[in-house]
Amino acid sequence: MNTQVLSRRRNLGIIAHIDAGKTTLTERLLWKSGEIHRVGEVHDGNATTDFSAIERERGITIGAAAVQAQWAPRDLPPHRLTLIDTPGHIDFAIEVERSLRVLDGAVAVFSAVDGVQPQSETVWRQARRHRVPLIAFVNKMDRVGASFERVLEQLQDKLRARPWALGVPLGSESGFNGWVDLVDERVLQWQDGAATTMTPWDDAVRAQWHAQRDALVEAVADHDEQLADAWLEGRVIDAGTLRAAIRRATLAGAGVPVLAGAAFKDKGIETLLDAVVDYLPSPLDRPAVSAESEGGEVVLPPDPDGPLAGLLFKITHQQHGALSFVRLYSGTLKVGDAVASSQHPQGRRVSRLVRVQADQTHDIEQAVAGDIVAVLGWKDAVSGETLSGRAQPLRLENIQAQAPVLAWRLEPARAADLIRMAQGLASLAQEDPSFRVETDRDTAETLVWGMGELHLEVMVERLRSEWKVDVGVGSPRVAYQETPMRAMTGVVGRLVKQTGGQGQFAHVVLDVAPREDDQIVFNDRIVGGVVPRSFIAAVE
Ligand code: GDP
Repeated sequence: MNTQVLSRRRNLGIIAHIDAGKTTLTERLLWKSGEIHRVGEVHDGNATTDFSAIERERGITIGAAAVQAQWAPRDLPPHRLTLIDTPGHIDFAIEVERSLRVLDGAVAVFSAVDGVQPQSETVWRQARRHRVPLIAFVNKMDRVGASFERVLEQLQDKLRARPWALGVPLGSESGFNGWVDLVDERVLQWQDGAATTMTPWDDAVRAQWHAQRDALVEAVADHDEQLADAWLEGRVIDAGTLRAAIRRATLAGAGVPVLAGAAFKDKGIETLLDAVVDYLPSPLDRPAVSAESEGGEVVLPPDPDGPLAGLLFKITHQQHGALSFVRLYSGTLKVGDAVASSQHPQGRRVSRLVRVQADQTHDIEQAVAGDIVAVLGWKDAVSGETLSGRAQPLRLENIQAQAPVLAWRLEPARAADLIRMAQGLASLAQEDPSFRVETDRDTAETLVWGMGELHLEVMVERLRSEWKVDVGVGSPRVAYQETPMRAMTGVVGRLVKQTGGQGQFAHVVLDVAPREDDQIVFNDRIVGGVVPRSFIAAVE
């Protein structure tokens, strides 16, 4: 195994506000890269990364599945892309957090009509906190009211990002049909249902766009010395030079390359796939992780020959059994190995190792540092476990679970199902650190705690579909009473009253007006972006 192989891996997430088109885009990316040959429409409920029935009904993506594909831009060798799906709903912030821990880069999808929305802001900030390099994709360019320019402005104003538009969209709304590629100096034309045509700039086109290209070169040169030197010396900045500089500056977190397209119409997908390879990091580009060992802290670069260290970040149950998704940071994991973890210091055997490609799983013999794979068949895995060699136990920093804020009272429809319900709940709690189960000391009722109504609804649905237990749901108890509100500037207000029969709303009065970039944190949860001084918060 050499570093060349690792340099051809991209572990990435696609992050977005609900409805921006993340599911459609994920599908088209997989389809273009040859993994799925029939594009399932999202509203048909056939999307590949959507697993459970409730997701299909609601048309949203909840589970963070890792799906693989291959892509080779220009004359480069094939690169392996692993798409880690991240949910857009705030109730699943823990899932987003978990995904951000294991991915190396991300594509942030925005709707050209709706622009930067509150949840895209939340996820963007989470990504920034994890120092995850980003590319932005402005989707739905074909829709009435679409504006690439407006999204660029919002990226700057609302997200304080430094957007670098790598091209200029051609045609607007339903006439959107192309992209002036400022990096490669060519014009791409996308006709409905036809192949992309690529035309290198001729003198007339160059005369029209060279100033815009120069502006891009200058913007990137401000953050890349090599490019700045070449530019100042008056050298010709060819596509390769500019690409390399954009890559360095993006990896350094200096700016965000921005592309545009219409996923639904298959426009801009190849350009985005190229950009994923060109500008997002490989595992080698990310900082080494550190882990605790018996002898103190150790730093682990992504070395297949290093000690085994992997983070079990997601468990899903499929018809073949439990799939435990693992990000390997160091070492090599082989079928037949016995691996230890804090939960299982004596070790557990890896009997099957799989990659998930579109809707299929493929058995593999081994995985190396930088890979995301799944161990099939572990019944008692716990999300957040570190996998390591038995001889050298290691512990990576665990995923931060947020305290759940809402409880429901559950009762099986048939008393005989009580034990089965308890088993099902215990298994779900094992998968998800922000889902908790407890028995009320006074009333002996079963209470389940989660991050919001949707979160609990999904769990109850899974209890029905996977454990065949029909449950009745009682009114929720809310975990906060007189909770202070915090903004980044400190404590700014207090919760004065809970309204609504089910305690789902709170009347909040802030002592001072929040600043534009403040986020209001409520019981460690972000409840919204800019808010007036007195408002009713849907705290669920
Ligand atoms: P998600 O919630 O972010 O996963 O968004 P979806 O992929 O489910 O898309 C939301 C809706 O927008 C669906 O009805 C899609 O068909 C539609 N959609 C997605 N991309 C585009 C696009 O590029 N153009 C248009 N017109 N509609 C789109």
